[in-house]
Formats: sequence, C-alpha cells, structure tokens
Amino acid sequence: MELYNCSLEELWQRLEKGEVSSLEVTRSVFKRIADVDETIAAYLEIDEKGALIQAESADERRRKGDATTPVTGIPLGLKDLLSTVGLKTTCGSKMLADYRPEYDATVVTRLREAGAVITGKLNMDEFAMGSSTENSAFKPTCNPWDSGRVPGGSSGGSTAAVASATAIATLGSDTGGSIRQPASFCGVVGMKPTYGRVSRYGLIAFASSLDQIGPVTLTVADAALLLSVIAGHDERDSTSVNTPVPDYYGNLKQDIKGLKIGVPKEYFGAGLDPEVEAAVRLGCRQLADAGAQFADVSLPHTDYAVATYYLLATAEASSNLARYDGVKYGFRAENTDGLLDMYRTTRAQGFGDEVKRRIMLGTYALSAGYYDAYYRKAQQVRTLITRDFDEVFADNDIIVAPVCPTPAFAFGEKIDDPLSMYLSDILTIPVNLAGLPAISVPCGFTKSGLPIGLQLIAKPFAEETLLRVAWHYEQMAGWAGRRPELVTKAVN
Ligand code: GLN
Repeated sequence: MELYNCSLEELWQRLEKGEVSSLEVTRSVFKRIADVDETIAAYLEIDEKGALIQAESADERRRKGDATTPVTGIPLGLKDLLSTVGLKTTCGSKMLADYRPEYDATVVTRLREAGAVITGKLNMDEFAMGSSTENSAFKPTCNPWDSGRVPGGSSGGSTAAVASATAIATLGSDTGGSIRQPASFCGVVGMKPTYGRVSRYGLIAFASSLDQIGPVTLTVADAALLLSVIAGHDERDSTSVNTPVPDYYGNLKQDIKGLKIGVPKEYFGAGLDPEVEAAVRLGCRQLADAGAQFADVSLPHTDYAVATYYLLATAEASSNLARYDGVKYGFRAENTDGLLDMYRTTRAQGFGDEVKRRIMLGTYALSAGYYDAYYRKAQQVRTLITRDFDEVFADNDIIVAPVCPTPAFAFGEKIDDPLSMYLSDILTIPVNLAGLPAISVPCGFTKSGLPIGLQLIAKPFAEETLLRVAWHYEQMAGWAGRRPELVTKAVN
C-alpha cells in the first residue's frame, strides 16, 4: 500500500520500528497532493518546503532516541482558521487573504512540539459559516466520492484531504456541525470534543460559545491519537478546562457490554433520507450485537435548535467580526472618502454574502428593543436543550443518531436557499448548544456510492467512552479506511 494511504496509527507504528522514515511518508503525501489536489482542491496553501524540513527533524529526533509522540513525523493538514506563523491564515475570506499571523494557535504549537509535519492550510467556508465549502472566497472543494457534489462544510477541505489521502489526518473546527457533517459527506471520521477540552487560542473566532477544534481522520484510533496531542488545559483560553486527558487510545478496546445507548425519536423524523436511516439503524443493531443496551429516548426541544443556533451564532459572529474594519489588520478598501466610508467599503468588499447576512442577522438580534425577544430567549431555549440531554444522559451513556438528514448534495443545490442549507444542520447543532462531545463514523454508502455517517454523542468530557463505542462500531461495521477511486494525473 502507498504510504499516503496508511492510517496515522499504522504509520506511527512503522516509524517507531524504523521501517519507514518521515521523509518517505512526507514525500509520498506530497506526490499524492501533486496528483490529485488540482481536482479536489482541498488545499489553500501547500508548504512542501517547510514540511520536508519538519520531516527531517522528526527523523533526526527518532535517530537520536529523543522522546516521540504518535504524530512525530506524520503529515497533517490544518483548517485555514488555525493561526500559523509562516503560513497564511485566510479563514476562507478575502478579508484575510494576505494575513500572516504573528503567533501559532495552541493546537498548532502542540502539534509542532509533538513533532508533526504540517502539510499546509485547508479550504473552508468563509469564517466557518456554511455547510458546503461553497462559501470559500477562493474556490470550491470537491467531494472525493463524487466531484459534482460538495464535501460538506465548513471544514470541507479538512475532510476532503483525508478522504483523498492528501494528508494523513487534519484538524477542523465545529461550531454547529462543521467537523461531523463534512466527515459524514466524505466518508471519514470527524470528532467534535467537549467545549473546553481543546484550547481555542489562535482559532479565528466565529461563535465563541460554540467553537471547538477537533480531529478529522481515517479511523477512530487515529482520532484518539490526535485528540491526545491537542487536548488539555491552556491558560491562554479561559474556557479550556483543567481536567486530566485520559489515555484515549489505550482504552479503545475495553468492551462495551452493558453500555446504555439512547436512540432519540426526534432525530429520525420527517426529512431523513431512507438510505441514511437504514444505514444508521443497521449500525444500532451491530452495536447491540456487541453488547450495548438500547432504549428509545426523547430530546423534546430538538425542533428549536436551528432557530436558537442561528440567533446565538450570528449574534456572537456580529461581535467577533467587528474587528475586521480595515484598520488593525487584513484587507482595506482603496480610494475611500474618510473613515466611515473606509469602514463601510472595506466590509462591503471584504466579506462575502453569507458572512454579511450573518452579521446583519446578529446585529439585529442584539439591537436594543429586540435583545429580550431574540437573544435572551435563545439563551433560555439553549438551557432547555441542554437539559434534554442531561435527562437522557441520566440513564444512558451514549446517544446515537444520523449526522445529516441526507448524503452530500450537489454544487449549487442549496447555495441560493440559506434556510434549506441551515436546516441541514438540524442533527448536529444541538450538540454544540449543549457543549457535548460527538463523533461521525462512516456507516455505509448509498446505492449511488455516497458515504453516510453515524453520529455518537456522549456526556461532557466522556470522550473516552465516545471513542471506545465508535471504535467497536467501526470494527464491526468494516467501513473504515475505504478510499474513493480518484483520477490521478498521468505519470510518464
Ligand atoms: N453549518 C453551520 C453554519 O453554517 C455550522 C458551521 C460550523 O460548525 N462552523 O453555521
């Protein structure tokens, strides 16, 4: 098997045994990027030169017998909202098209210290607002399983890169589903950790009470390995929680007999594609065969989640994005008439349509006179949604559900209909509102060959249980590691 096709776990073991070098793995990944990324377009910036230097120093680290980690020498890609010194960080926006941060995000620092090789920066919806990566100011990314379809979003570059083997694993961010939904569309594993588990320092903010960084990988074991490197307390993020990071990888194989799994009826309602439903129901039967106990449960406020999210997320975004005014950094419009005109023109030219729509919605929701009716009410409903989960988790360890009501949709299908795009987040958003950890694991394909994802949700900080159940499911289901057939450039 080509090195670029291997899982992180396998490469880690082979690197440790000295069977391969990081330089070989990294060269293989860059060959793959050269062959397929022109078509897939997962990358916004490719850093071959930097990666080869990092690969050499990882090999050196092993040669000298210095301490290594599971990601030492492994080529990993980053969603382009994670700040990186030396690499542009555009957030998918014209506003930050030439922005080069002065500092690394904490997750990037952790990866660098762990000896990872950074391949480059991955495409995304502008400011992480979207579900298809069509809102990138630069280019659309293709779904590796069907080039006429979107990879999902907003971390579409991160999931398409893993699916097309142009990175061994990547990091994405999930505010309302942006890791799990594109992972399900691209047939890879995507995990959103508990709010507070991973530092957000250096993550360009969209909605700060919801944003969380997480791994996108080929397998559940890879997600466990990558999460162990990025998780943990960081004094630079006041919302990061100071609890120990368990050995996620070491505990994967403990059995799941007797674990209680709830199936929420609201997640299997109208609008759910029959093929998605069948695949998820089959997944439940397989988990039952492994000894898990199933119960029907209810999350009665699910219907209000999309409305609640689109008030809170837009309100927070309108405040977070106020800093892009053409003064401090980023894009500034030219030939303007005074300060106010400079602000207005900069923001009119620098932001795309979806970002403007969200800023306007959020500003409206926060404005005097409407604050109580919208923002405060949404906060109250958020509490009700969180309580729904608390009640189910009083008697259950895990909740199982689909990730998205449908498989990947076609380019252009939803882009002119924001409401239908927003509604596709209905099964992922409640998890963010409640701050819970959740994962998307491949659970089969539609008849036309599109991947389907199974979502598992756990109690706060129960990533260990979440990954364990996901790992057992993955072993039984056997979908992990499947690759689409991609047309590569002819080799002479
Ligand atoms: N699709 C959702 C939105 O557009 C979620 C985005 C995200 O998680 N960053 O807001």
